[in-house]
Amino acid sequence: MTNVPSRKIEELKSGFEGEVLLPGDAAYESARRIWNAMIDKHPALIARCATTADVVRGVNFARDNGLLLAVRGGGHNIAGNAMCDDGIVIDLSPMKAAHVNPGMRRVTVEGGATLADLDAATQAHGLATPVGINSTTGIAGLTLGGGFGWLSRKYGMTVDNLESAEVVTAAGEVVIASATEHPDLFWALRGGGGNFGVVTRFEFRLHPVGPDVLSGLVVYPLSEAKGVLQQYRAFIATAPEELSVWAILRQAPPLPFLPEKVHGTGIIALALIYAGEPKQGEPLIEPLRTFATPLGEHVGVQLYVAWQQAFDPLLAFGARNYWKSHNFSSLDDGLFDVAIEYSGRLPTPMCEIFFGAIGCATTRPAPDATAYAHRDALFVMNVHCRWEDPADDKRCIAWSRDYFNATAPFASSGVYVNFLTADEGDRVRAAYGPNYDRLARVKRTYDPDNLFHMNQNIKPS
Ligand SMILES: Cc1cc2nc3c(=O)[nH]c(=O)nc-3n(C[C@H](O)[C@H](O)[C@H](O)COP(=O)(O)OP(=O)(O)OC[C@H]3O[C@@H](n4cnc5c(N)ncnc54)[C@H](O)[C@@H]3O)c2cc1C
Repeated sequence: MTNVPSRKIEELKSGFEGEVLLPGDAAYESARRIWNAMIDKHPALIARCATTADVVRGVNFARDNGLLLAVRGGGHNIAGNAMCDDGIVIDLSPMKAAHVNPGMRRVTVEGGATLADLDAATQAHGLATPVGINSTTGIAGLTLGGGFGWLSRKYGMTVDNLESAEVVTAAGEVVIASATEHPDLFWALRGGGGNFGVVTRFEFRLHPVGPDVLSGLVVYPLSEAKGVLQQYRAFIATAPEELSVWAILRQAPPLPFLPEKVHGTGIIALALIYAGEPKQGEPLIEPLRTFATPLGEHVGVQLYVAWQQAFDPLLAFGARNYWKSHNFSSLDDGLFDVAIEYSGRLPTPMCEIFFGAIGCATTRPAPDATAYAHRDALFVMNVHCRWEDPADDKRCIAWSRDYFNATAPFASSGVYVNFLTADEGDRVRAAYGPNYDRLARVKRTYDPDNLFHMNQNIKPS
């Protein structure tokens, strides 16, 4: 598959503390599988790194042998850039350690950790930093694109909480990027994707959260969705930062708190978390129960880590997936009409339309304070189109694209880089927005030959 002589591969293996997998090795097949089953790539080598020194060896090996290079964190990215055909994958999944300094409210976490690894370590001290809503996601890819989740209205984007990062550059050097060391690189890492090197360690600021939080779902029939969405829009505009509520349109999964006759019918679910003292949250969430007559609810005090995993079963590895996403700085009635219409004809029962509320703390930094530029976005919509049978590919992708086009007139500019699919090269500039040119200059400094180009790529200027 590769022209690299086996002698060289043996050299790489002999100094390697992790594992170097080749086609035919027992672990190779599972190692090349990532979250989106649409991605079916066959790398020549998968270098499962155990240490930063392994990552350096892998980067040097790729560069010196002219190999295509992909970097895998949690393997979640929809576009599938964590894998490549015929080249080398630097796979950080064995590097998951997280160390908390509770006094300083800091955590350092390795580049292969998942959100679950991070949350487990920080919640042992009643601390957290804002990350995404699916615990099997990798912290690396999520952070490098910006990162947002249930705590973002209160504590900002994930990148707003990044203190420093250890990076292996294209030259194979290990550098620390922070406000005082390589500040240009530090700026670029906070939203510029995996363009600048392999991040082997992140350091985040932490905040007191939980461990118990008030959270859960209030579920209404799809027939009430317009009124629910209108009231949701008014509610979230004045809700305190601690309170985050997202709206999800889909078919009802067989959840035990919903009557059996509702399973499989169209619903709108309001997913909520109050990230403060649960008792204070109780009266604040009360209106969410009164937007119409709910079909059911499952709201209560539970561990923050449990809420962080609540959506995992609906978003498990191994299905075929296609996404389309817009940012919104306001929600228009016309948008609701389109969303409700398309939710009434989802191509499979696994599909859903998410409106994630951000805003508050995510809007405070200036658009050029970090590489993540979309400080005007108050909602991120993502269409999770999911199915299992390859025969449904065309139908599902067409439905997603049609819905995306129909909602485009209501969208604000820009798109979240982490939600771009492999066929959205024309949206890459919009994803980096006004920061693209500065990112291209930083790219020229740290990766002038574009070694790291299996990503939403920024060309060196
Ligand atoms: C089910 C699901 C739910 C999601 N929910 C959210 C959410 O709530 N909020 C949110 O912000 N995002 C969310 N995302 C999007 C997520 O942030 C991106 O998919 C992200 O890229 C995943 O990171 P990863 O490390 O798992 O991915 P990977 O596929 O491993 O990596 C993605 C890309 O990041 C780069 N990369 C990965 N690791 C490194 C590294 N160590 N150093 C340098 N570059 C690296 C590479 O370019 C790679 O191609 C969700 C994704 C899924 C699938």
